Amino acid sequence: LAMYNVKKNGRNNFIEYTSDMKKLITGISITEGIKYKELYMVYQPQINPTNGNIEGMESLVRWKSKLLGFVPPNEFINIAEETGAIHELGEFIIEEVFKQMEIWEKKQFNIPKVSINISPIQLMNKNFCNYVKEMLNKYNISTNKIVFEITENFAIENQKQISDNLNIINKAGIDIYLDDFGKGYSALSYLEKLPIRGVKIDKKFVDYICQNDKIIKMIFTLAQSLNLKVVAEGVENEGQKEIIQQMGECVIQGYLYSKPLSVKELEDKYL
Ligand code: C2E
Ligand code: CA
Ligand code: CA
Ligand code: CA
Repeated sequence: LAMYNVKKNGRNNFIEYTSDMKKLITGISITEGIKYKELYMVYQPQINPTNGNIEGMESLVRWKSKLLGFVPPNEFINIAEETGAIHELGEFIIEEVFKQMEIWEKKQFNIPKVSINISPIQLMNKNFCNYVKEMLNKYNISTNKIVFEITENFAIENQKQISDNLNIINKAGIDIYLDDFGKGYSALSYLEKLPIRGVKIDKKFVDYICQNDKIIKMIFTLAQSLNLKVVAEGVENEGQKEIIQQMGECVIQGYLYSKPLSVKELEDKYL
């Protein structure tokens, strides 16, 4: 580790992650991390801007590695996708969230919809649906509370497998949303071919909405005519919220309302 310039963070004696350490993230270290319970989920509220109600929450994975410190999700998800560890990681994430939802339902919390990010690599696996069904049998939760978020920029190959999987998932009662909407290339054709219930406007468009709101306006018009739900992501200030709110019905996810929260924080503040 010395050669990677590992620094211990004084306060909690926790290693500080540096970009050099990226070389140390491997499929195996991710799998080990799961085994040693270093990975866990946090939840970011999605708020209806007109009444302040929580209408959903996105589950996001975190990895606090003993060896590497806090590893940014974008980085280890990419490596998991490249190495194939995403299958095990993805299954872990689905089970963790279902397990948590069952706990909340048992405590009779009136929880909103919970979204789970699904990697396109998982969707290309023909056993994906079987795993989801197995977990739906194992945990006693309402399927209409589950949303799967998929990104639109997946490879054109294996489209058949992806759409077959999504149709089965959708028939089981799980809603499918397109994540990072507007960023990819063939979003419009996906909307037509796949059972999509909603879109999440990419943070990139929200970032410069005060200078230019044309793209977001277009997304709202499209969503209204196709009867899709809209989530605006990465909303950080009142100005952005006000512009978005005027465009139509939507929910807002962003630091303006809340960062992703631990289960405990979420229960204290929202459930
Ligand atoms: P994403 O799916 O687009 O998730 C939204 C990201 O935006 C999250 O970052 C969230 O913390 C961040 N975010 C939300 N609101 C704001 C805001 O107002 N300002 C700023 N600056 N950021 C905001 P996070 O948790 O670091 O995740 C990054 C990406 O890693 C995710 O992007 C997703 O692609 C991937 N990821 C995270 N968790 C999972 C997971 O459980 N499974 C899979 N397959 N991918 C995941
Ligand atoms: Ca997402
Ligand atoms: Ca997103
Ligand atoms: Ca993303």
